[in-house]
Amino acid sequence: MKNTFLVNLNIDYSRESKYLSTTLLDKIEENLKNNKKIILYLNKRWDFSSMICSDCSHLYKCKNCDLKMYVHKNPFKLVCHFCGFKKEIPLSCEKCKWVNLLKIGFWTQQLEGIIKKIFNWKKIFRLDTDNVSSISAKKEAFENIQNADIIIWTKMITTGFDLENIWLIAIILLEAELSVPKYDIEEKTFINLKQLIGRGGRKGQITDTVIQTFIPENSFVKQVFSSNYKDFFKETLAERKIFNYPPFKEIYILQYKNYNKKNAYDFMEKLAKNLENISKKNFFDIEIIFNKTSFKRSNQYFFNIILKWKKISDFLDKTIKKEIFKNKDLNVIKE
Ligand SMILES: [Zn+2]
Ligand SMILES: [Zn+2]
Repeated sequence: MKNTFLVNLNIDYSRESKYLSTTLLDKIEENLKNNKKIILYLNKRWDFSSMICSDCSHLYKCKNCDLKMYVHKNPFKLVCHFCGFKKEIPLSCEKCKWVNLLKIGFWTQQLEGIIKKIFNWKKIFRLDTDNVSSISAKKEAFENIQNADIIIWTKMITTGFDLENIWLIAIILLEAELSVPKYDIEEKTFINLKQLIGRGGRKGQITDTVIQTFIPENSFVKQVFSSNYKDFFKETLAERKIFNYPPFKEIYILQYKNYNKKNAYDFMEKLAKNLENISKKNFFDIEIIFNKTSFKRSNQYFFNIILKWKKISDFLDKTIKKEIFKNKDLNVIKE
């Protein structure tokens, strides 16, 4: 048996933190009193803040990609991590004109800190990808889980841990799940959450699931809460069609790296222009997006060109296959 509670963090918050509702803290308290184990789940990969409207639950999305945009400090703008599109930080909601926009960002370390402070007499264990990377580490983590009262879960680890005695599962911030710039993140989240929630209540006990969110009016949140697969997939497919995502179109990313930022940029700018010309000449309607924002890894600068079309693989075969083969710094990633 399972009971699921959807908590609106705009109206239900505690003195300790705006990310912890009184509903959740009361439930934790109650379970601890009865020696029942608790899982608090918060996605670790969320390291940027996003912008939401506290009135109509509108989430700021990129006009090119339909992916969430993030608040960057320098320059102070909303940025799409997929295509690099930037936008001024709005003063009022673009949908309902309400002025109370919220910047949302909460990290697993912060959560651990606050929980330790409130329940400092209890055993709290943080399960991370780092501490389950080897078999021996996994064994140790398993023992820690058995001994812990509260487990802070930071990644969707859906196999290998059969958890007994879990009576309360809390999704600390549902929208944190949607932070990864991938078009199918909602679908993955939907399935993962179902699996996580499914961990409780295996032996016939009644498990409570608390889902916290600042955007209870958002259609994705509503569908997770009601586990409405049919509506979810119907809506997701319609959205993907509008934004040319698979299964309607193929998406490929051309990625180029170089130690010199300007060289990398120039190379990709030229390549994007070339591809556009070929596309036009052949009357293809390929969508070509050059993301002018680079990212840096091991001192190399990376630039991406995103290609969307019904048959990108054919197009690449006929055009720059040789170039890709010869140039070890140019990579093709299929989304
Ligand atoms: Zn609004
Ligand atoms: Zn975008």
